[in-house]
Amino acid sequence: MARYTGPVCRQCRREGHKLFLKGDRCYGEKCAVGKRQYAPGQHGQGRHKQSEYGMQLREKQRCKRVYGVLERQFERYFEMAERKKGVTGEVLLQILESRLDNVVYRLGFATSRAEARQLVRHGHFTVNGKKVSIPSYRVRPGDVVAVKESSRSLNKFVEAAEAMSQRIIPEWLDLNVEAMEGRVLSLPTRDQIDTDVQEQVIVELYSR
Ligand code: SF4
Repeated sequence: MARYTGPVCRQCRREGHKLFLKGDRCYGEKCAVGKRQYAPGQHGQGRHKQSEYGMQLREKQRCKRVYGVLERQFERYFEMAERKKGVTGEVLLQILESRLDNVVYRLGFATSRAEARQLVRHGHFTVNGKKVSIPSYRVRPGDVVAVKESSRSLNKFVEAAEAMSQRIIPEWLDLNVEAMEGRVLSLPTRDQIDTDVQEQVIVELYSR
């Protein structure tokens, strides 16, 4: 599946928000949003009046970028959310949260979703004992996501395990640090999803 390969911090500057796409760097002084608080490009520092449509579009772009999803796949997720029971915006976030790369990130095995995506791609994870290397794979309640046995001694995972005590694991996931695995207890409800994305604004955009 295709992914964005351009400058990463530019996306945060475009949205005017920290999207936390680069792991530890996002918490340090090198963060580009802190250093240059205006949009990238020649006209980035100009004055802009934002229309309602512009505001809705930016919210959708921000959500896509947070989860590292490109336009077509995001549209597919939205269509899927519309077909399912429940509040469309919330279901959309639920679908995005259930991606394997997001679950790996939420469990603390990676410092960003981009890193989680790469680790999944490189075949370091199993779901219910079977290797899965598709970042967009969607987990279901009861699934167990684990670091592959032969990968557990890698520095990356040893360090991640040491840092896990400082991370807050969402209520819908259960982490077992010793076994290097996490169980999906349920799909997350809106209040269990730690994001300030205004999903209702995205629904309004697609309802135009
Ligand atoms: Fe965004 Fe992180 Fe880059 Fe800051 S360091 S601009 S939060 S990706």
